[in-house]
Amino acid sequence: MKRDTGQNRNITDKWRLQTKLVRGGTYRSELGETSESMFMTSGYAYDCAEDAAARFEGEQDGYTYSRLRNPTCAMFEDKMALIEGAQCARSTATGMAAMSSAMLSIVKAGDHVVSSKTLFGSCRVFIETILAKFGVSCTLVDGDDNEAWKNAFRPNTTAVFLESPANPTLDIVDIEFVCTVAHENDALVVIDNVFATPLLQKPMEMGADIVIYSSTKHIDGQGRCLGGCILTSDEIMDEQILPYIRHTGPNMSPFNAWVMLKGMETMDLRVDKMCSNAVKVAHALRDLKVFERVNYPGFSDFAQRDLVEKQMTAGGSVVTMFLPQGREQAFKFLNALEVTDISNNIGDAKSLMTHPASTTHKSVEESARLEMGITDSMLRLSVGLEHADDLIEDFARAAKIAGL
Ligand SMILES: *Cc1c(COP(=O)(O)O)cnc(C)c1O
Repeated sequence: MKRDTGQNRNITDKWRLQTKLVRGGTYRSELGETSESMFMTSGYAYDCAEDAAARFEGEQDGYTYSRLRNPTCAMFEDKMALIEGAQCARSTATGMAAMSSAMLSIVKAGDHVVSSKTLFGSCRVFIETILAKFGVSCTLVDGDDNEAWKNAFRPNTTAVFLESPANPTLDIVDIEFVCTVAHENDALVVIDNVFATPLLQKPMEMGADIVIYSSTKHIDGQGRCLGGCILTSDEIMDEQILPYIRHTGPNMSPFNAWVMLKGMETMDLRVDKMCSNAVKVAHALRDLKVFERVNYPGFSDFAQRDLVEKQMTAGGSVVTMFLPQGREQAFKFLNALEVTDISNNIGDAKSLMTHPASTTHKSVEESARLEMGITDSMLRLSVGLEHADDLIEDFARAAKIAGL
């Protein structure tokens, strides 16, 4: 009666990306709805007490409580797993819930973590400060220094964490290399793939054990909901991650999962357009010749271009620029914008620009910020879906007003 092809991996794995994004993971109720249903329920009723016992025993399929699984969240998770090429996924309330849950699931007191230095502010604070509270030490390395990665491992290293491209510097890490070294040292690799999105980079194919997302970014893509996702193998999920998340409850709301499902239907169109807009905007910003430097992984002369070509299919939607002077000039430029918003999110349909030193990376100590290359003259732009020329004209006008 039900036509649940969306749930059958034997069928869906063969679909092309766009079909997976639209139809993968879909579960239809007996009512035959075309749009996924939103199951706003915390619990589930059983026909009899024996059924309840059998479900908790794992002898009967079905839901028991939404902290353990919820049908709308499950549809989002199954679609994400399909896109990533992972065996399974679990959704979380935020990207940071995904990151912290993945890390806390795989380390214990006395362990050591190796991570790239350049990270989203909260990721850096988590690795450096929060893990330390639980007796987990870390070594931070320059992401582009393969020797440093090699030398950072210790007998008690159990996990590696990295972002590539990193937020906000866009530094690229050689994912395949780091995964190989990590596995030689029996460590699991967790990759924050937010900037690349699951469409531009496939960390699991390069050896990553766990991939995490903030679905707040390109997956929702319209600035509506917070969310996150953890993707991995059945073995790591069942043995390490589920015991942690089931008993700590970092879950995504079914409402947010429904919004994310709707977002994924148009994700390929949006990410594609954002990337082509970013190419145009990045070149135009550079052609203005008023910035000290414009940085974009899609530039043919980007410092780590070989790695970008090796592991990404496009340069992404984020561009950074450095003004000749510091914070005052950066603020003047931001305040003069008429189209792009001053906002610290990324991956939104609306173009957003932020001053990382005073916002996204405010919680990181100044010395650490400078070590990452996040100076007071840096601005980060997330290119949206507006007409590129409107953005470009806005930047040219703002540059004049800021005295550039
Ligand atoms: C935004 C972001 C996060 C955190 O995601 P939230 O949904 O805001 O919790 C983690 N990593 C990177 C690279 C991000 O850009």
